[in-house]
Amino acid sequence: MPTAYLAGYPPNLTEPVARLLEQGRLGEALRKKYPEAHAVRTDRALYDYVQDLRGEFLRNAPQPSKIVFDGKLQSVGRALGTHTRVARVQGGKLKTKHEIRIAAVFREAPPEFLRMIVAHELAHLKEAEHDKAFYQLCRRIEPDYHQLEFDLRVYLCHLATGGEGLWPAMSGLRHPA
Ligand SMILES: [Zn+2]
Repeated sequence: MPTAYLAGYPPNLTEPVARLLEQGRLGEALRKKYPEAHAVRTDRALYDYVQDLRGEFLRNAPQPSKIVFDGKLQSVGRALGTHTRVARVQGGKLKTKHEIRIAAVFREAPPEFLRMIVAHELAHLKEAEHDKAFYQLCRRIEPDYHQLEFDLRVYLCHLATGGEGLWPAMSGLRHPA
């Protein structure tokens, strides 16, 4: 059991996951809980999706200069999304550019997982650290944030043990997030 993804969670949460994994039923359980894939498949669609949420929850936050899916981010590593601030001098003023990169694993995922990671990266527009204020903001954007992060980590366990992607791109039949 690749517990690294679930480190820090209590046994009453991780043991049922380990059992399902042993029985080869973890993928099935995840698909049952999250039956739908979202339809945000391109960088253009991701840009619109992120800007809509930003408009709803963080209207006064800085404008990201770049919003993309990034296939180079470790899909099963620590960094699922990244947020970088690049300070540049522009017209005599110091300007900070914000770039949001979302790991490619979220391109073929349920809408809940996408919303969770986008909430995380949007929260970084205001809060740099993973502190209390940061997670409060995550929960304001997505009230189920913590459960979704756990379930995403469960999915990473599934992938890390050789499980197949559970929400592959289908042509045209899926609904937008
Ligand atoms: Zn973060």
